[in-house]
Amino acid sequence: MSELSEEVQPKFLVDGMLGSLARKLRILGFDTLYDPKSEDDALRSSARTDRRILLTGDFELYKSAKRSYIDTILIDSSSERDRLFEVLQKLGTTKIRTDQMVSRCSQCNGVLYDTGKIGRHGSVFSCRTCGKSYWKGSHWDKLNALFSDVNLMLLQEHEKRIRKLKHESSESF
Ligand SMILES: [Zn+2]
Repeated sequence: MSELSEEVQPKFLVDGMLGSLARKLRILGFDTLYDPKSEDDALRSSARTDRRILLTGDFELYKSAKRSYIDTILIDSSSERDRLFEVLQKLGTTKIRTDQMVSRCSQCNGVLYDTGKIGRHGSVFSCRTCGKSYWKGSHWDKLNALFSDVNLMLLQEHEKRIRKLKHESSESF
């Protein structure tokens, strides 16, 4: 059985080169730590003690984390869309969950709360840790377009896997 049940969201630790990916994961509601100044040793020990999946574009760090039995995903892609797809696809996700969106601060990973105020773009949320306010402004359309693209890629990947499975099972008869 997979360690990742549907109820438990995976937690991430992101290396210093992947800040934009970290912010997107937070927007999707994932508990994601990111410190651009973190050294490899600190990343490895934090991933281990906090049971986080380490996301890195550094092959050496990836190999050493693997050797230490740390859950780690090597990020090969260079575009934001492909990086997000890589992470979600490797977790076995077939569709982005929308119910956790706007639950975390993209700047500090703090938890957001609904302030009860209604702005021009609807509800205003605020971060419990840093106080930054959020609402679904014009950037939201861009984010949604990005997430739709990633969803399409996930769906295509999923269908490809199913076709492959069918093909394999038909071969065995
Ligand atoms: Zn914050």
